[in-house]
Amino acid sequence: MLSVNNVRVHYGMAEALRGVTLEVGKGEIVALIGRNGAGKTTLLKAITGLVKLRDGEILYQGKSISGMPAHAIMRLGIGHVPQGRQVFGDQTVEDNLILGAYTRIKQQPKQVSEWLEREYTRFPRLKERAKQLAGTLSGGEQQMLALSRALMSDPDLLVLDEPSMGLSPLYVKLILDTVTELRKEGKTILLVEQLAAAALSISDRAYVLSSGQVEMSGGAQELLHDEKVVRTYLGA
Ligand code: ATP
Repeated sequence: MLSVNNVRVHYGMAEALRGVTLEVGKGEIVALIGRNGAGKTTLLKAITGLVKLRDGEILYQGKSISGMPAHAIMRLGIGHVPQGRQVFGDQTVEDNLILGAYTRIKQQPKQVSEWLEREYTRFPRLKERAKQLAGTLSGGEQQMLALSRALMSDPDLLVLDEPSMGLSPLYVKLILDTVTELRKEGKTILLVEQLAAAALSISDRAYVLSSGQVEMSGGAQELLHDEKVVRTYLGA
């Protein structure tokens, strides 16, 4: 479904991605783990059109999306839950959700209201808080909102950047359980996560990124028991 081929991204002189190649198959949950600064966020931004590729190519459903603007990539069916959630704090919960559907609302107004109801069913807390300003939500509620907002464009592929960051164990479980549910709904997931053990436990496969390169890859269960992965990424 998604092929990342030898992708390089530079920030000025600094090379954040140094030739990354990976695949995400339809219906998979693929985890991307690695230390701070390994390039995980940059890779997600490259996929969603938020940073420019220096070299390489990204194919989505067999077609190149390299160089396409972010809104066009979103329209093709790739949803992004950014690091730090980035909800619009001075807008209501409902307005945030509707903004998530801005690429669809003109052509598909009826579906957009159905998707809104679907998200309110997924997270009843968001329905209770529909008229509340998003900036006043708790961290966990904001993460639900960020996830639902991305789902409001009805993506087939969802890329999630550290959805557990700063959340209590209960919310971490809720979010990861939701990711598992989304796969059952037919979504494909690429998950960046600091909580490597938790991410691997819900994933099919994983890639370990180190200094802008893929250091290791394999089945999630296999990596969960790999001595080097345990020592380096699961030690805590
Ligand atoms: P973290 O887990 O800390 O978010 P990460 O694996 O997501 O890390 P990236 O955020 O992709 O890593 O960063 C990769 C490298 O690129 C880092 O060395 C970082 O300092 C650098 N970098 C990221 N964004 C920029 C930017 N806008 N300008 C310059 N350098 C950047």
